[in-house]
Amino acid sequence: MLTLRQLFLNNNAQTTHFPLLLEFDRAEGVYIYEEGGKGYMDLISGIGVSNLGHSHPKVVQAVKDQAEKYMHLMVYGEYVQTPQVRFAEKLVSILPESLNSVYFTNSGAEAVEGAIKLAKRYTGSPNVLAFNNSYHGSTHGALSVMGNEEFKQAYRPLLPGIGFIRLNNHDDLELITHQTACVILETIQGEAGIRLPDYEWMQALRKCCSETGTLLILDEIQAALGRTGKLFAFEHFDIVPDILLMAKALGGGMPVGAFVSSVEIMSAFKENPILGHITTFGGHPVSCAAGLAALDVLLEENLIDDVAEKEAIIRRELQHPAIEEIRGKGLMLAVEFESFDTNKKIIDTCIQNGVITDWFLHCSNSMRLAPPLIITIEELVKACQIIVQAIAQHTED
Ligand code: PLP
Repeated sequence: MLTLRQLFLNNNAQTTHFPLLLEFDRAEGVYIYEEGGKGYMDLISGIGVSNLGHSHPKVVQAVKDQAEKYMHLMVYGEYVQTPQVRFAEKLVSILPESLNSVYFTNSGAEAVEGAIKLAKRYTGSPNVLAFNNSYHGSTHGALSVMGNEEFKQAYRPLLPGIGFIRLNNHDDLELITHQTACVILETIQGEAGIRLPDYEWMQALRKCCSETGTLLILDEIQAALGRTGKLFAFEHFDIVPDILLMAKALGGGMPVGAFVSSVEIMSAFKENPILGHITTFGGHPVSCAAGLAALDVLLEENLIDDVAEKEAIIRRELQHPAIEEIRGKGLMLAVEFESFDTNKKIIDTCIQNGVITDWFLHCSNSMRLAPPLIITIEELVKACQIIVQAIAQHTED
């Protein structure tokens, strides 16, 4: 009889030659457990999703309650479904006034697709500006705005009209014109290895977009909902996007994404033609119920309050000459080493020793740290000790 691992390799589509092949039985809090009971600390929240840890009891209860009432009823936007309505109401209540219309999707990439379509419809322009080293997902539109040729060259032709500019480069802002539909930017770049924009540059970007009638799309699919120490990462820069993208942590472990804009901008989807974006499962009632429960927990338990302190603990504990830099904000961090080879050895040893981390798609010499926000100080210190031991093992004579 074939093992589960063999069946996985035979029948489940493989997209690399070297899957991790860890086999898990259950997960709770910051830990994921193998069948025999060995627990692994999840320092990447798989990836950027489990902000409340795994299987938070209030989220699990919300899933059960909603599944018993109803699951899928109708394609998005036709029936009034309580979980979608309540979740949108809650999100709008915590967002700036201009972000008052929520379109729920299945995933992050679908939110990206919907947002780019919306910007094209609203402005009447096909031109989009994106950023070098960006990551916005794996569908064709999202690939078109990805700033890494290696991952997209095999899929050309992609969307026309896409230009690329550089983060924190003031000269490049001149490329934003009245013919630009939108600028799409990760508020904090994730797969680039956690790169932050400068405050003044973000202010200038917002100004250029406003002056030219260009919609500013901020992709907070990784960064939103407390990960960076603020509810939304754009708050660090005192700006408000025209369209905000969320997914990952939004569903508390269930699949849901969203693009959020103003009622006025979103209305562009209603005419010529109607039904500007269609999705069958987007805003699934069970996902929305889970997302609402997760947001309630995040806010009621003030989980964002400790994020800055936890970042400081990581920076204090991760001391070793082989660490070239620690970049990032809050619990969205990158630890840079001299090479991919060193990073990979350290990561493999961490996993063997019960701490799960990985590297970034566009930055393979940096280790990703994005633990659940609920991680305790003791757990964090323990994880950092395991990482430092692994660094020492692979970099000291
Ligand atoms: N945007 C960012 C910044 C992401 O990090 C990701 C996923 O990693 C996406 C978009 C795509 O989201 P999804 O994988 O849900 O399609």
